[in-house]
Order: sequence, then structure tokens, then C-alpha cells
Amino acid sequence: MAHPSVLQTSCYLEGDFVRGDSAPVVVIDPSRDVLLAEVPGVSAELTRRAAESNAQGAKAMRALPLLTRVELVRRLGAALRAQSEALARLLTLESGKPIVESRGEVEYAASFFDHAASAAELAAGEIPASRVADRRVLVLREPVGATVAITPWNFPLAMIARKLAPALAAGCSQVLKPAEQTPLTALAFAEIFAKEAAACGAPRNAVSVVVGDAPLIARVLLEHPSTRKLTFTGSTEVGRILAGQCAARLIRPALELGGNAPFLVFADADLDRAVEQAMLTKFRFMGQTCISANRFLLAESIQEEFLRRLESRMRLLTVGDPMEEATRVGPLINDAGLAKVQRHVAQAVDHGARVRLGGGIVAMTGLSRRFFAPTILDGCAPSMQCACEETFGPVVAAMSFQTEEAALLMANATPSGLAAYVMTQDIDRLMRVAEALDCGVVGANDGAPSTAEAPFGGRKDSGFGREGGHHGLDAYTELKYVSLRLRAK
Ligand code: NAP
Repeated sequence: MAHPSVLQTSCYLEGDFVRGDSAPVVVIDPSRDVLLAEVPGVSAELTRRAAESNAQGAKAMRALPLLTRVELVRRLGAALRAQSEALARLLTLESGKPIVESRGEVEYAASFFDHAASAAELAAGEIPASRVADRRVLVLREPVGATVAITPWNFPLAMIARKLAPALAAGCSQVLKPAEQTPLTALAFAEIFAKEAAACGAPRNAVSVVVGDAPLIARVLLEHPSTRKLTFTGSTEVGRILAGQCAARLIRPALELGGNAPFLVFADADLDRAVEQAMLTKFRFMGQTCISANRFLLAESIQEEFLRRLESRMRLLTVGDPMEEATRVGPLINDAGLAKVQRHVAQAVDHGARVRLGGGIVAMTGLSRRFFAPTILDGCAPSMQCACEETFGPVVAAMSFQTEEAALLMANATPSGLAAYVMTQDIDRLMRVAEALDCGVVGANDGAPSTAEAPFGGRKDSGFGREGGHHGLDAYTELKYVSLRLRAK
């Protein structure tokens, strides 16, 4: 990969870098408000060429021996690790993610390639026990074919890896459409892919990366007759639009959408441990993740003590230039993201919440005005915006409960169903509450539950489909059975 000062700004299709032919996507460093690059977008015609190349890539991948597929996928994981520092710096430049976290994201992305390669090696069909003497049923697993992935800005590399690793491992091709804020990491990945594919004899057109007008690109890709699957991570609003487009052609969608995670702390929790886990879920990328704790539901008897300890930990967070090693809180992604956080805080205060810590922008010399202070809002209510919608910022919205039943009612009273956290030392309560939470991921005394071997995904307005684990691979395979009639002896 080139040094970040030599950025790749061409799209990747037909196994080559192709200059976009439409309005450019303008990429800004959110820390400094400076222009990083202009990436020419693709027209409908170039998108059609990418879809056609994806169809050819699917045929070539299907024909590729499992050993070569697995080698390609393993090589991609290794190549990410080998170029970790350059990738992490690029990721930080365009997203504002603190550099230590960006390094973690590269490793996290690489782990999806490792895991998918292993899962593909173990994947097997089945031969069910025969019910009659002269017949055998062979259940085959086959790749789904040409797929499309649309990804968000908050994990510019990991969301690509979570989708692409199982796709390639299963023998599928994929066109990737990264978010407009973070196309550079995706294009840097395309360089890595092209090199590794060539090195192991895999088809260079198994992957395409296109940037530009999202609705147009999605429409052209989903209308192409070869497209068999869409995997989307992003907002619920856009997920609904895409689900409608998929329905028209009966394309199978996997939708990883927004969340509104509750963080429940019971009176019997180990409070220091609960605070550590709260810091992990709340301050990873300044709260701009789909599984970030959005509502802190605290047992009344420990509420004050929990917030006191959390506040002292939050005071230690270094806000600053995300390229600095010590920084834990960088800028929010853009002005719209900042405005939403400000709106949620103001509305909560208007309705009676108290700002216990932070509450506004932190002015940073030489940096942009998108740095929001780690904030605690005490005395929030379930009806406030900060409790009803994803705030996507470094804000702890705290409210209290008296009984387990009341806590569960509050936790589940949301259209979202992605993640939830429960902090308690009572194993019976832990299981009871984990089972009663209406969501796809539960962090049980764990503030960082995402991992390559787990089947990540949501329910209700958080979408459907699972990524990660062998379930992630299953999503890119379909079953066929061959009923074999034997001649009587
Ligand atoms: P977003 O606005 O939905 O954008 C996500 C992707 O969809 C981007 O690539 C975007 O392209 C594209 N897009 C936008 N409008 C489109 C349309 N009409 N047709 C097709 N594609 C379209 O979401 P975001 O603001 O980037 O990401 C934040 C959201 O993602 C949050 O709700 C968060 O919870 C969710 N998220 C969920 C998960 C999960 O696994 N469940 C993980 C991470 C994030 P452009 O950028 O070019 O507009």
C-alpha cells in the first residue's frame, strides 16, 4: 500500500483501478477540516460495468479450488497485519478515530479473514440417513454468487472485512460501496486485494470497490440480473429503502442497522468492573458505534456511586488530535453528527436532566470544532431524545430503576434490538435478564462483545441476518440436494 500521502483515488473494477467519471466524493479530515482527497464517483454506466465484472468474478470464484480460496482469504488477513500502521493512519485521517483504536480495528478486520478461512475449510455438506434402500440424498453447499456490500463510516475497514471475508471464503464475489466519509481505506484495501489475488492466482475481479452517488449505485447494482445478495450496514432508514429494492428482485438482504443499547447495572454488580465495561462500550470511537451503550439504566441504590466512579474515569480521558497516542476522544465524524449530540443534550437539559460532566464542545487549538466533551447527563427519562434515539456521541444518559422487571421493561421499550449490556454478579439474574432482553447481542459483564467468532446481528428495527462465526459463512452459501436413485442389485 502506498504511503497515505499517495492516496488511491480511483475505483476498482474489472480487476483494475478505473478513474470515476462522475461528481467527486470529497473526503475531509474531521480533526482539521482539511481536504484529504477528491474521489471521482462512478456513473450508472461504470456501475453497470462493475456489476458485470462482479458477475464474471462470481463465476471465477465458484470454479476456484477451496485451497486457493482459503489461501487468498488468509493472505488478506496477513497483509492487513503487515500494513497495519499505514492502514490505521489512513483510517484515523478520514474518520477521526483515535490511532490506538484504528490499530485495533485493523487487527479486528484481519481476524475476520482468519476466521472465515478456517470456517470454509471445515464447511461440509451432509448425507442424511436414508429412509429407503435405493435412495441417497446428498446435501451440497454452493456459493450464493455475485453479492453487493454497502458499508458505513464508523468501521471503514472492519465492516468490509466482516462482509467480504466470508463471501470470498464461500466462493462468492462482492462489489463494495463504502461510505462517502471513508472511501480511502476501502480503496487502499482494494490495492491490497489486487496484489494478494495476483500472488495466489485468484481472480482479480472477485472484488470491486465503487464510490459515488449511493442511491444510484445501489439501484444499478440491485437491478443487475446477476446480483444474488445484498449485505448492508448502516441506518434503519436506508435499510428499509434497500429492503424494498431487494424485494422487487427477490435478492436476499442482510441488514445490520442502528441500535439503542441499554446498559443495565444491578445493585449486586461489581461497580469497578461495571465502570470499566461502560468505558469500553461508551467511548469506543466516542460512542459512534451501533452497539454503543446509549441508555444507562442504574439500580437506584447504586446509581450515585456508579456515576461517581464513572465520572472519575471519564475525567482521565484525553481529548485531542486522534493521531496522538494518548488520545482517547477525537472529533465527531461531521457537523451533522455534532449537531445531533448537541440537540440531544440540550433537549434533555430542557426536560430536567442535569449535566454532571462535560456538556459541550472542547475548543482545541489548531483543530476543528467537532470535539465534544465526555458528558454525563443525570436524571434522564425514557421519553427524552437521548434515550429514544442513538445519540452516536460520548454522552452517558443515566436513569434509574427500582426492580428487575422495571429495568427490563425500560430496556426493551425501543423499536431497536441490536445490543444490550447487563452488569450483575448474580448468575441466575444474568441468565434471566440476558434471555429476556429483546436483542441480538448481550454483553454480560462485557462491554466489548464483538468478535469474529460470534454471529453478530440484530432484530426488530435493527435488521436481520448474522455476520461472523460459521453463520457468517452460511449467509454466503446455499443448499442444493441431489436425490440419487440406486439401481436394485
Ligand atoms: P447510512 O447513512 O445509512 O449510510 C450507510 C451506507 O449506506 C453508506 O455507504 C451510504 O452511502 C449508503 N447509503 C445512504 N443512502 C443510501 C441509499 N438511499 N441507497 C443506498 N445506499 C445508501 O448510515 P451511516 O450514518 O453511514 O452509519 C451510521 C448508522 O449505521 C447508525 O445507525 C449505526 O447504528 C449503523 N451501524 C450499524 C451496524 C450494525 O452492525 N448493526 C454497524 C455500524 C453502524 P453514502 O455515505 O455515500 O451516503
